[in-house]
Amino acid sequence: MPFAKLGLSSPLLEAVRELGYTEPTPIQIQAIPHILAGKDIIGSAQTGTGKTAAFGLPILHALGEHDRVGPRLLILEPTRELAAQTGEMLAKLSRFTNLRGVVVYGGVGYERQRDAFRRGIDIVVATPGRLLDHLRQKALSLRNVSHLVLDEADRMLDMGFLPDVKRIVGECPRKRHTALFSATVPPEIEGLIRWAMHDPVTVQIGQRRSPAETVKHVLYPVAESQKQQLMLALLEQVHWESVIVFCRTRRGADRVARLLKLRNHKAAVIHSDRSQKERQQALDGFREGRFEVLVATDIAARGLDIADVTHVINYDVPEHPEDYVHRIGRTGRAQASGDALTLMLTEDAPRVAAIEKFIHQKIERVKLEGFDYQYAIVLDEGRRHALPTGRVRGGRVGSSGYYAAPAGRKRR
Ligand code: AMP
Repeated sequence: MPFAKLGLSSPLLEAVRELGYTEPTPIQIQAIPHILAGKDIIGSAQTGTGKTAAFGLPILHALGEHDRVGPRLLILEPTRELAAQTGEMLAKLSRFTNLRGVVVYGGVGYERQRDAFRRGIDIVVATPGRLLDHLRQKALSLRNVSHLVLDEADRMLDMGFLPDVKRIVGECPRKRHTALFSATVPPEIEGLIRWAMHDPVTVQIGQRRSPAETVKHVLYPVAESQKQQLMLALLEQVHWESVIVFCRTRRGADRVARLLKLRNHKAAVIHSDRSQKERQQALDGFREGRFEVLVATDIAARGLDIADVTHVINYDVPEHPEDYVHRIGRTGRAQASGDALTLMLTEDAPRVAAIEKFIHQKIERVKLEGFDYQYAIVLDEGRRHALPTGRVRGGRVGSSGYYAAPAGRKRR
C-alpha cells in the first residue's frame, strides 16, 4: 500500500519521500487511519516498527499549520534520549510544514526551553519531571493541547513517573485525543488507560511478547572466570559492524568499556551516572560511526533508534525478561537482520528460564569454536539443549556437539 493512499497532507508525504520510506509499516497501516479518524489508540507495537511516524504523521496532519495558541501536541517520554530522538523524528516529518516543536528534558538549562515557549510552539516532546517544573513556574500552559501521546508508558511506570504523568494529563483539556504506547499493560497502566482515554482502539503488531522476528539470538554458556575473554573473542571472531554491549550495572558497564578500550576497540559508554552531555556525545558518536561499540545499561535498551546495529551482546543476562526483549530489539530494526548474543553463567539459569518462558521460545546454546573453554556446570546445562546435527547460519557443529557461531571478519 502506498503512503499516498492514507490521506495525509502533501507536506507530510513529501517528508516521507525525503526520508526514503517507500511504504507504510504494518503499525502505520493500522494506526494512521484510526488517529486520522480521531480515535484514541493503544499501541503495543515494539520500537523499531515505525511507531513514531505511526502516531506522528496523522497528528501532524491534524495540527495542520502553526498556531500561536501554544502547544497542541504533547508527547511524554520516559528518558531524555527517547525525548531527543522522538523530537528529531517529528522535526523530520514536519520539515515541509511551518509547525514548531521543542524538546524539554532535565539536566540542561531552563532558559532555552523557556525561549522556545515564548517564540511559540505547536509541539512539546518532554520527560515528565522537567515539564512539571515548567508548568509549576507557569512558563507553559497545556490548555490548548488537542493531542496527547504517552510513549513507553510501562517504562514511565517502572521509573516511578506515573504520579507525574497523571498530574500532567490533569493539566490537559479533557476533550483531546490520546495515544498510549506500551510493550506490556500492567494493572497500573490499565488504570491509566481507563482514566485518561476515551473508548480506545488497540493496535497490536505481532505477538506482544515476541522479540523482533528478524533477530537471531543465541546463548553462550561460559565460566565466570572466562566471561571477559569470551566477549573479547566474540568481538574478534563474529562478523559485526556495530554492536551494543549490555551490562546489568553502571559499574559493570564502566568496567567493560575500560576493557574494550584497553583492547583498542573504539567504545563509548552510556548509563544514568553519565551527564546528559556525555550520554549524547556517546550516542551521536556511535550513530556516526566514531565508536564501534556502545556499552550500555538498560536505560539505553528501550526505544533508542540506532540504525544498523548488527549485533547486541548481553554481557550480563538481564534481570527482567522484558528487558531481554527490549535489548535485542536494538538490532533487527526496520527489517534489517541482526544477531543477539547472550553470555550465560551457571547462576543465570533461572533468569534464562524466565526469558525463555516469556518469549515462548527456547534459545539455542552455542559454543565459540576455537575458544579454550574451562569447565563450568552451565556448559553441561547447555549440552542438553544443543541441537543434534546440521548447520546453522553457516556455523559448524563444534566438537562438543554445540553449534559454533559463524566465524567471520570484523570490519576494518
Ligand atoms: P521507530 O519504531 O519509530 O523507532 O522507527 C524505527 C525506524 O524505522 C526509524 O529509523 C524510522 O526512520 C524507520 N521507519 C519508520 N517508518 C518507516 C517506513 N515506512 N519505511 C521505512 N523505514 C521506516
